[in-house]
Amino acid sequence: MGNSGICPDHANIGRFIALHDDLIAGPFFEALTRSVLRETGSAGECLAGDGTVVEAAASHYGLLKVEAAQQKAEDAQRQAQDDPDDLDKQGRAEQAQRVHHTLERRSQRRQARGKSSGQLRISPQEPDALVQPLKRGRGMAPAYKPSILANESRVVVGHVVDPSNEVAVLPGLLTQSRKVTGAMPGELLLDAGYWADAVIETSLTHDISLLCPEGRTGGKRSAGSRLYPKSDFCYSEFDDSYRCPAGARMVVIGRWAGNEKSPAYTLYGTPACNGCEHRAQCTRNKKGRRLKRYDGDEAKEALRQVMCHPKAKRRFSRRPAMVEPVFSVMRGLQGLNRFRRKGLAAVRTEFALHVLAYNLGRALACRLFVAPFSGHTVVLALLKQYFAHHQFIAMMMNINNPNPGKVAHAELNLLLA
Ligand code: SF4
Repeated sequence: MGNSGICPDHANIGRFIALHDDLIAGPFFEALTRSVLRETGSAGECLAGDGTVVEAAASHYGLLKVEAAQQKAEDAQRQAQDDPDDLDKQGRAEQAQRVHHTLERRSQRRQARGKSSGQLRISPQEPDALVQPLKRGRGMAPAYKPSILANESRVVVGHVVDPSNEVAVLPGLLTQSRKVTGAMPGELLLDAGYWADAVIETSLTHDISLLCPEGRTGGKRSAGSRLYPKSDFCYSEFDDSYRCPAGARMVVIGRWAGNEKSPAYTLYGTPACNGCEHRAQCTRNKKGRRLKRYDGDEAKEALRQVMCHPKAKRRFSRRPAMVEPVFSVMRGLQGLNRFRRKGLAAVRTEFALHVLAYNLGRALACRLFVAPFSGHTVVLALLKQYFAHHQFIAMMMNINNPNPGKVAHAELNLLLA
């Protein structure tokens, strides 16, 4: 801790984080956010979700493919066996094994989904991070995907970090937002990246009104494709057929029972493709256009119709203003352009600290700009915020405590009251 008591050094910050890891991202975040919600007079009736990619604390040089990771693990193992008393070598062997097994698991998961795993790579320093494209075309690097849920006052009520998946973490985000706000949201606004069966199913399970546009490949024709997307074909439940853009009726021509690589579907086709003048824009298949209908397609069609309604479009147009400035503030003002800590658990705590700082900023901004303006009110608000903030830091750092324990929940509640 620095001499003034308000300028902690890195060792103390690190010790504090290690001591309060489980509290920061969970109970403390929830307690603080409830206070911020009271301060901003906002709730969680309508929430918007978003995710981003943030580079991990690892170089994008020296990435390993599966074979290289295996070779390194074997070499490290051999060295460790030759010198069993050398703890450094034992540690290096364990780390190399972990790197190899992590990459192998990822490779098997991709292959199980019928995807190629030849280009998969891993960072030996940060195996939890996934090598993925960074924002703004900055190439590929080991990175994580933090996701958030924010309300209409841009207060973050749910946050999580996953190596790569923003869809799979949605149920966890909703559970956390319920702990903070006391109820599931009535309305959920998500961008096209969340257009997935799992998201629609989650919203139906919790009786949430979901507004989510279709992704580029499913909805509008993407720049690289000249073929009619599936959404150009109208399904009729009445006779279980599709009407194609040329007006032909596509009927059931096969069924696939599904396996672990590919879900079950029904296949539709039509003989009218032979000699159809739309064929060049519709299919490259010699047998004609084929459509696959999956179990979740019915719900997707319903959502697609909802999103066409002008009122739904108007409500959805609020999403960017609710959630996107959050990451801009974190990147631009809080410096979250790259994680400083290594390992998924540590990165989750680091992101939680960013969210806490951001939410405190929302409370302060609300005091300054939203509450009825009076010089007296503003000065009092600033003073209270200032002292609360530094009292908070001092308490967290346990400056004079030779045996620092975890911050008691009661103390935090007092501070946040
Ligand atoms: S190619 Fe077949 S499916 Fe496509 S528009 Fe023509 S008839 Fe319809």
